[in-house]
Amino acid sequence: MRTLYLGTFEDTPSFAAEVRSDAAEPEGMAFRPLRSLYDEVDEDLFHLAGKAIQMLAWDDTHQYCGRCGTQTVLSEIERSRKCPNCGLVNYPRLAPAVITAILKDNQILLAHARHFQNNMYGLIAGFVEPGETLEDCVKREIMEEVGIKVNNIRYFGSQQWPFPHSLMVGFLADYESGEITVDGEEIVHADWFEPGNLPVIPANVSIARKIIDWYVENYS
Ligand SMILES: [Zn+2]
Repeated sequence: MRTLYLGTFEDTPSFAAEVRSDAAEPEGMAFRPLRSLYDEVDEDLFHLAGKAIQMLAWDDTHQYCGRCGTQTVLSEIERSRKCPNCGLVNYPRLAPAVITAILKDNQILLAHARHFQNNMYGLIAGFVEPGETLEDCVKREIMEEVGIKVNNIRYFGSQQWPFPHSLMVGFLADYESGEITVDGEEIVHADWFEPGNLPVIPANVSIARKIIDWYVENYS
């Protein structure tokens, strides 16, 4: 079973270790799905757990060279697995995604996506495609999902999102033109909301929530 060094956490060297699925839980400990920790542990610990799962999954799925099929070797000098036969190097994969708050006067656009649990409303988000800048992606996702044009796109902050290997990059953007027209596939309903009448919004740890909290603080 694999063990990978993750770096230090509060000055203590930390490792990710895989155990057999039938391994007994040590006394006073429990195996838990990562997602269930989301609102229970603090952000630093959640990020470490996310990193552990991503590193183990990457190592597990890059044991053989994708070009020539030779067994790869873990590098001792950087986080990569290298093919000793053809030299192909694989780094841990990260899929950047953008998430954007669209602002119109003192209103924010919130959307209910088909995959959201219960009646939650969140921000427009999506994966960056090859050939796109982050700003291109913001514009494309918003046009595709709710049919409006935005401008004045500015960076808000980012968050690792280990489900399974994303980096969420948060933005604010101003409404430019168009009427809300949901795609009906991913987004089933979207509307403009004001700080005083928000629907159910995402949990505390998410960047979506941080952006919405920022909006409420600044637009109330
Ligand atoms: Zn190879």
